[in-house]
Amino acid sequence: MIIILKPHATEEQISHVVERIEELGLRTHLSRGSYRTIVGVIGDEAKALEAPLRAISGVAEVIPVLPPYKLASREAQAEPTIVDVAGVKIGGEHLAMIAGPCAVENAKRMDEIARDIVAAGANILRGGAFKPRTSPYAYQGMGEDGLKILRDTGDKYGIPVVTEVMDPRRVDLVADYTDMIQVGARNMQNFSLLTEVGQTRKPVLLKRGMSATIEDLLMSAEYILSQGNPHVVLCERGVKGFDKATRNLFDVASVPQIHGLSHLPIVVDPSHATGRPDLIPACAFAGIAAGADGVHIEVHNCPEDAMSDGPQALLPAQYHEVAAQIRKLAAVMGKMVSPLPAKTAAAQPASV
Ligand code: PEP
Ligand code: MN
Repeated sequence: MIIILKPHATEEQISHVVERIEELGLRTHLSRGSYRTIVGVIGDEAKALEAPLRAISGVAEVIPVLPPYKLASREAQAEPTIVDVAGVKIGGEHLAMIAGPCAVENAKRMDEIARDIVAAGANILRGGAFKPRTSPYAYQGMGEDGLKILRDTGDKYGIPVVTEVMDPRRVDLVADYTDMIQVGARNMQNFSLLTEVGQTRKPVLLKRGMSATIEDLLMSAEYILSQGNPHVVLCERGVKGFDKATRNLFDVASVPQIHGLSHLPIVVDPSHATGRPDLIPACAFAGIAAGADGVHIEVHNCPEDAMSDGPQALLPAQYHEVAAQIRKLAAVMGKMVSPLPAKTAAAQPASV
């Protein structure tokens, strides 16, 4: 950490800063310029971060040298983390293809959609049983019945499943049914929820909050990691923009940025990022070209009947085409769509 003192800070103020640092068991290195003095702090930066050093009179700025997300940072681990979702790998050269309807609606529909997305090459089936809706009057999801349908469908087609949990009290219930727990954008900073999912050992799909910075997202991941759960996959799903042309603003630059800052895998969600089926393919490709570790797309076989997010859903045939293009692009990027666990590998199309 570097502490920059105000111009003309007094000798008394400088020694007070040094004393406070030494009280924390750390050492200092003073650099006296003609205008300002800079105090370098040597030792465990976390200790110095706990003290409100910026509040000491004479201090102009406190600049940490290390990122505050210790476990999620590249400094902590140079190699990319590879998360294993019931046999499907995400990260490094392994690509996730997460697809399915926004919400689990009924067993028949789930079955048809799962059949189609597996045939198209998806490797994780999604479907919300607990839906975070802006309006309390909108469809809230099927609850535990939806979890059962998702589990049974996933088992039938041999594809791992992911579903959202909203309530810390339901983490155990959801974890019993799913292979991966989704923490949605609206809950990215629900710290009790993050702590709870951190106490499980299930892989977590952590979506970026709609007004969260990249650092906020990584700090939320840190909550999960610090509880001992290392299986975190980040998801860029767009942030609030000013232009109503798209549902959110797809921040594709976050993908290479996060890869520079963290070893955690990151997938892109062009469905929620754009809210527009016509833009989903291009944004999915952009995500892969930017180095994303997977693509998360909502698919529905009758979008006009969908209980939620129908207007942004791709039809199975459209998904089929996008998936084929993604496999080609993945090869260019030196990646490969992770195959389904062995027993159903025959259901997958040959990789391009
Ligand atoms: C979803 O995945 O259906 C969802 C609600 O996503 P987000 O949290 O990104 O809005
Ligand atoms: Mn949705």
